[in-house]
Amino acid sequence: MNHLCLESPVRRLLQNTIAGLLAALSLWYGLPARANTATLANPLHGSSAPMQPVATASGAASAAGNGEKPEAAPVISIRSAVAKQLREAIEQSNAASGIKKKPTVLVGSSDKAPAASAHAPAPAAAARGHGVPAEAKSKPSGHPLSSKTGNPHAPAVAHDPHDAPHWSYEGETGPQAWGQLQPSFNLCAIGKRQSPIHIEDSEALLGPAEPLQVNYLPSKGSVVNNGHTIQVDLEGSNTLTVRGSTYKLVQFHFHHPAEEKLNYKGFAMVAHLVHQNAKGQLAVLAVLFDPGDASPMVQKVWTHMPLDVGDRVGLPDGLIDLNETLPKDMRYYQFMGSLTTPPCTEGVLWLVLRQPMTLSREQLKLFAQLFPNNARPTQPTLGRVVREAQ
Ligand SMILES: [Zn+2]
Repeated sequence: MNHLCLESPVRRLLQNTIAGLLAALSLWYGLPARANTATLANPLHGSSAPMQPVATASGAASAAGNGEKPEAAPVISIRSAVAKQLREAIEQSNAASGIKKKPTVLVGSSDKAPAASAHAPAPAAAARGHGVPAEAKSKPSGHPLSSKTGNPHAPAVAHDPHDAPHWSYEGETGPQAWGQLQPSFNLCAIGKRQSPIHIEDSEALLGPAEPLQVNYLPSKGSVVNNGHTIQVDLEGSNTLTVRGSTYKLVQFHFHHPAEEKLNYKGFAMVAHLVHQNAKGQLAVLAVLFDPGDASPMVQKVWTHMPLDVGDRVGLPDGLIDLNETLPKDMRYYQFMGSLTTPPCTEGVLWLVLRQPMTLSREQLKLFAQLFPNNARPTQPTLGRVVREAQ
């Protein structure tokens, strides 16, 4: 029973192949196709010895086949006459029909199956994030954050989708695992200046500091759901000047809850306004939100909010005016930190506005339904200086 079980697939394969060949050969030899088909198994088995490639597989089959089906004289005659040509024809046919390759594929498939399934998560992840990357790819390549430093909080946009593993805010690909997801993410685990942080007045360096020179204008742009947040990519010359450098506003996005904490207080949401200067350096202006009156800016963005990952919605020209989302009190905390999403690149200038703005609970709820929690936990300051600008 065992050998029958083992042989049967091979035998079936061969029989099927030979059936076709004999049908073809029958034309050559003028034999009735039916007779050839009937004698199929036996000539094959009989010639299994010379047919080395099949011999191993059909050896047992040959013995069993011979035992089960005594050869008839016509078969022998056919075999003796046709054996060589048949063998050659079979070999040619095998080569042509990929029979020889099939076992390889089968073996290969079992060999490669793990590899394929090992790869499966990657493409799948890429595909998941792909909505984002695909979108990123379709974007004009000039997006400053895409090509140079990486998009702080929409990393999927920043990186080649095929290089970017799936990451998330919970579970096995959550923040605690980011640093291990791929080598380029290792700063997430070993960086010394990571963001966000818990800012405490008692530890901050209190003193004079230059005011932020913000020059925002009504702008056009587009909203994208990149799978990690809702992000608005902006066009136009919105600028922020600080520390002798002018940064251009590239995009802003949201986290719920806010990633930053001030004096043990958390916030419902934060908007990160991501700027980049000519050197490619990043400055992020953080605007915190408490529940309260509706935010006009949030309302405009939510109105055009794409619901599907990778989906992008264009905004009417001049719709977004970020002046309306800045507090009157522009005092801020300043410190050096990192992207709060993989690859957690450091060297980012953080400017966290002290005075929170408000958004309505309805506005908050809508975002939270899409992103229940897209905040990285606070990271150790490790002696970092936080300046509380007066
Ligand atoms: Zn962010």
